[in-house]
Amino acid sequence: MDITFLGTGGAWGVPELNCDCLICREMRRQGEKRERTSLLLTNKTTLLIDCGPDARSQLSRNKVDAIDGVLITHEHSDHYIGLDELFAYKRNGPRGSFNPIPVYLTSKSHEVINKRFDYLEDMEVIRIYRIEPDRWFSVGEFEVLPFDTFHGPFAKGSVGFIIKCKDVSGKDVQVVYTSDFSEIPGPPSELFNPDYLVIQAFWLNEPVNNRPNHMSFQRAIDFIELLKPRKETFLVHIGDADMVPGDPANNILKKAEPKNPLRPPSGGDPYPIPLNQAQWQKTVDRVISDRNLPYKVTVAYDDLRIKI
Ligand SMILES: [Zn+2]
Ligand SMILES: [Zn+2]
Repeated sequence: MDITFLGTGGAWGVPELNCDCLICREMRRQGEKRERTSLLLTNKTTLLIDCGPDARSQLSRNKVDAIDGVLITHEHSDHYIGLDELFAYKRNGPRGSFNPIPVYLTSKSHEVINKRFDYLEDMEVIRIYRIEPDRWFSVGEFEVLPFDTFHGPFAKGSVGFIIKCKDVSGKDVQVVYTSDFSEIPGPPSELFNPDYLVIQAFWLNEPVNNRPNHMSFQRAIDFIELLKPRKETFLVHIGDADMVPGDPANNILKKAEPKNPLRPPSGGDPYPIPLNQAQWQKTVDRVISDRNLPYKVTVAYDDLRIKI
């Protein structure tokens, strides 16, 4: 099975439109970008997790010629507003050959998304399947268990997914996709010891005020230690809202003051705020090794593809 990280950025992508902070400047200088977070699992069945505003470019540059199912984590625009792009799969197949693409989401997410995209159901581009936390369903050979995630009052339908399938050698493999969240209210037992964990790191440091109910890398470490992924953890949904010391742009609205910034256990200065992909990976490697944690943590980047 292949996992492709179609996008690894926060809600507005990075570098962000109209942002001149040091992170966005450095990313522009390096020609780096992170589109809105979305994941593709490809086996016999092709499964898309979330379908944001960058879906068209993500699916076309990865030459995705068919989608067998779409899992939607929650009703925020960066996770579903690209659903209309799926029209292309109906328009460009041989006449009479198309079956509506199954879209799996909770009732609460559907209430919101339906206001915008009911015509996609009427025109049989998509077919909605309402899912419930803690109830397994299958999409082709993938077995999927949604679980409740807390992501604030404007994402009442928010869920993560536990996905089971076989790896290349035919062994069972389990991937946990946590989506946007600040808490997991009632974690099912299946959440623990996955082979792979995909978790957000919207900031490096937990902010004083976590109003958007996102996960920082600082807090993600606690979840990595709790869930104990066996093989590898991937960080996604990365933003640019950490304050970089000395940056005049620290006064812009989105910049979040750290509560108690990550620093080496032996003390000393906080870890530097990463400005680009290489610095992110270097900081994450340092934090993991300074704490002697037995986990492999990879900062995902757009179009990273791994075979499992
Ligand atoms: Zn998001
Ligand atoms: Zn969200």
